Amino acid sequence: AVRVGVLALQGDVREHVRILGALGAEVVLVRRPDQLAAVDGLVLPGGESTVIDKLSRAFGLRGPARDAISAGMPVYGTCAGLILLADRLADGIAGQETFGGLDVTVRRNAFGAQTESFETDLRVAALGDPPVRAAFIRAPAVVECGAGVAPLAALDDGTVVAVEQGPLLATAFHPELTGETRFHRRFLEKVAAA
Ligand code: GLN
Repeated sequence: AVRVGVLALQGDVREHVRILGALGAEVVLVRRPDQLAAVDGLVLPGGESTVIDKLSRAFGLRGPARDAISAGMPVYGTCAGLILLADRLADGIAGQETFGGLDVTVRRNAFGAQTESFETDLRVAALGDPPVRAAFIRAPAVVECGAGVAPLAALDDGTVVAVEQGPLLATAFHPELTGETRFHRRFLEKVAAA
């Protein structure tokens, strides 16, 4: 089985662990650099990116995570995880850092407050039918993609909400909350291929 980690500092860790386990992966909770060093891929969960950023620095994980991403480790980020993968933030809070690696600019809370959270059916050509049931919870949006970044899904108004760049995969929404497993399968295929 492939061995993957879920960054377990804050956020919806359990939902990702459940899906990855159901798909046959061996799953490790990552809170320390030695745990990160023992996995072949990493999921960055949804949650609060400012908190995950601070905790990752406090736990000495930021440098190792950046190094692992530069070295080509497959990573799948959902929501706050997309923010953490972004090279640039349109509106990070003062001092907010990201791991980076994904050549995009991301706007946090792009759809408004928690109460404006919504679910929708998204066509994702790379995943085929049926459409993806996607939950957007105080979600970010990708506002600019670098040349090597493939947009995988957009809302009707053209807002990009899922992207891929080599071993990196990121969604502004939470497939782990709606029973959708195809993004996690795609991530695990990247891990197996790496
Ligand atoms: N708005 C959150 C942030 O900026 C992300 C929300 C989520 O992960 N559901 O980190």
